[in-house]
Amino acid sequence: MLAVVALATAASAAVPSPSAAVDGHQFWTLPQGPGYTKSARVIGHSASGRRIVAYYRGYEGAEHVLLVLGQMHGDESAGRRTAEFVRDRIVPRERTGIWVVVSMNPDGAARGTRANARGVDLNRNWPTSGWTSAGRGGRYWGGPRRASEPETRAMIRFLREIKPDFIASIHQPLAAIGSSSRGVAWQRRLASNLGLPRRHLGVGNPSGTVSPTLTGWYDSTLGAHGVATTIEYGASPPRSFVTVRAADGITKAALVR
Ligand SMILES: [Zn+2]
Repeated sequence: MLAVVALATAASAAVPSPSAAVDGHQFWTLPQGPGYTKSARVIGHSASGRRIVAYYRGYEGAEHVLLVLGQMHGDESAGRRTAEFVRDRIVPRERTGIWVVVSMNPDGAARGTRANARGVDLNRNWPTSGWTSAGRGGRYWGGPRRASEPETRAMIRFLREIKPDFIASIHQPLAAIGSSSRGVAWQRRLASNLGLPRRHLGVGNPSGTVSPTLTGWYDSTLGAHGVATTIEYGASPPRSFVTVRAADGITKAALVR
C-alpha cells in the first residue's frame, strides 16, 4: 500500500475567479466545481530514505491525466520549478487531473549529482531490453540489475497505478522535445508552446532494443494508456520560462486546460 500523508480535501464550491494574468498567461487560482481535490502522498523512498512525494490536483475519477515529473537527475534543477509551479498555481479543467512529482531523485538533488546515492543513473535503470550493467562509476551507470533502485521501483508502481495519458519528464540541458512515433501531436504542441525543437534523444542502447529510460519503459509497457515524453530545457533557462511559460505550455499541450 502506498502511504497517504495528506488526505484529499474536497474544495469548497467557490466561484472560480482568474488570478491576475502573469506575462499574458491566465491562471486559475480557485478550484472549479464539486469533486475537485488536492492531495499528496508518499509513493516511495530513495536509497537514503528520503520521501518521494506525488501531488494530485484535479477531479475525482478524472478521465484524462497528466503527470509532470520535475526531476530525475539531481544536477538538473530547472524542472523542479515547473513542477512546483504546476502544483501550486494550475487548476485543470473538469474531468481531468494533474499528478506532480517534483523529484524522483531527492538524494541526487541533495548531493547535486546526476545519479542517486548509489551512483546509479535513474534514467538508465528501467527494466527494458536495452538495459545494461556496464559503466559502473560513470555518469550513465544503469545499476547492478534492472530496476535495482528504490526510486525506479517506486515510480514503476506509481505509473502502473495511475497510467497517465501524458507524462512530461523534464531534464536539461539539450533544449529539445524528445520525438517518437507515438504522441506526435502532443509532442508538436509541446514544441510549439515551449519554443523547443522536436528531436530524437537516443541513449545509445543497441538497435532493436528498448531504451532503459522512463520514456522507453512506459511506452513499451503502458503505451496503450498514454505516452511519456522527455522535455529537455537548456542549461540555464530563465525563471519566467521554467515557471509561467513551461507550466502553461505543458498543461495546455496535455489538454488538461
Ligand atoms: Zn536528465
